Amino acid sequence: MSASPEVVVIGGGPAGCTAATLIAQKGHSVRLFEREKFPRFHIGESFMPDTYFALRRLGMLDKMKSSHFVKKYSVQFANDQGKESQPFYFFENNPHECTQTWQVLRSEFDHMMLKNAREHGVDAREEARVLDVLFDGDKQTGIRVQYADGGEEVLHPKVIVDASGQSSLISNKQKLRVPDAKLKKATVWSYFKGAKREPDKLDEGATLVLQLKEKKGWFWYIPQHNDTISVGVVGGLDYIFADKNASLEEIFWREVDNCAAVKRRIEGSERVDVWRTTKDFSYRSTRFAGDGWVLVGDAFGFLDPIYSSGLQLAFSSGTFAADAVCDGLANGDLSEKQLGGWGPVFLKGMERLKKFVYIYYDGFNFGLFIRRYPHMKRHVTDLLIGNVFKDSLDEVWEPLYEVQREINGQKPDAVLLG
Ligand SMILES: Cc1cc2nc3c(=O)[nH]c(=O)nc-3n(C[C@H](O)[C@H](O)[C@H](O)COP(=O)(O)OP(=O)(O)OC[C@H]3O[C@@H](n4cnc5c(N)ncnc54)[C@H](O)[C@@H]3O)c2cc1C
Repeated sequence: MSASPEVVVIGGGPAGCTAATLIAQKGHSVRLFEREKFPRFHIGESFMPDTYFALRRLGMLDKMKSSHFVKKYSVQFANDQGKESQPFYFFENNPHECTQTWQVLRSEFDHMMLKNAREHGVDAREEARVLDVLFDGDKQTGIRVQYADGGEEVLHPKVIVDASGQSSLISNKQKLRVPDAKLKKATVWSYFKGAKREPDKLDEGATLVLQLKEKKGWFWYIPQHNDTISVGVVGGLDYIFADKNASLEEIFWREVDNCAAVKRRIEGSERVDVWRTTKDFSYRSTRFAGDGWVLVGDAFGFLDPIYSSGLQLAFSSGTFAADAVCDGLANGDLSEKQLGGWGPVFLKGMERLKKFVYIYYDGFNFGLFIRRYPHMKRHVTDLLIGNVFKDSLDEVWEPLYEVQREINGQKPDAVLLG
């Protein structure tokens, strides 16, 4: 048995490590439980530039700068005809060092984050699975955790930060999780050595988003270090698994044949990992917090992989929540209002990204939009950077819908919920 810390964080991914580190930096006792032994595999390898500000607060910036992770300066799109847009260089908006970001191997990056949390005083326990969060009505009253040796313990922290990712422990238990009916997607991916990458330093680390024929979905093409490229196809769940007998390998190569831009890049390369798949990953919770608990990162919700926004949302919710927890501990207020007060601003940002995701799946054409509205490029770049928590962005929607109507004769079903 050990004394209960002030704060328990469930999950040692980016959201959990962000919240834990920032709360510990303020001198509070924080214990983090992670069910896996790190390093462990995880998807989600491409950063948005605005993660810079969280990385700086966490003390991770110098570690990233001296890492071997590939530098990312832009995102580039190819349409269903294989026509490639100009790269969206992040520095065109703002010539600050934050506009260069990274493509990481998550097993390595997440391990760095966990070690960094420990350096800041977090008591991080691996192979420690949270079995249950205990409630009295809406108030959390404790947490039950199981260690690798099978031993169990119940702790009674003042605050629980749920950062359990797609497991969404509290959200599932309290029935807060709502799937996104418009984003019922699936993906198949693997890793390739020797696939083509741009020779130029500025472009070699670009994320490529390459649309399938007839806009049935898209490939991500994410260059990593060690000559490895992460390549995955995303499409409607029913479309990807239309042939129930097809193996993951067959599905992947079937879709490569539907995407000339990826085909010419991976021809002749060698697959260096197993085939991987996941599905139905888009959802969000109806609340951010309750009495003594708060949700961050994927444990609150996940949008869609198209713009690589998951980490930015994990870092920013982790940061918002950490500040709310510290203020709440300082003034003795651990109510829902205090712990989740940041929710509306965060949700507005997330909903802006969601509108932009819907627009893509409704057949958006980046090249056409920028030709028609060149002065709106900075807003599109802001969305791609993750600089989404500002109302001035909202002037982009009408022009976007205008072009969208021209493309497919209808207004997309994208409503700002926040
Ligand atoms: C196909 C796909 C591609 C993606 N690509 C990108 C991308 O390119 N860029 C990007 O930014 N995002 C991407 N994402 C999203 C990204 O993976 C997530 O948004 C991000 O990992 C969220 O971080 P997190 O800390 O909230 O959750 P996670 O990283 O999932 O961390 C949660 C942690 O909690 C632990 N845990 C779970 N349950 C328990 C328990 N009961 N007890 C103890 N520990 C527990 C897990 O082991 C895990 O380590 C992608 C997602 C998908 C599905």
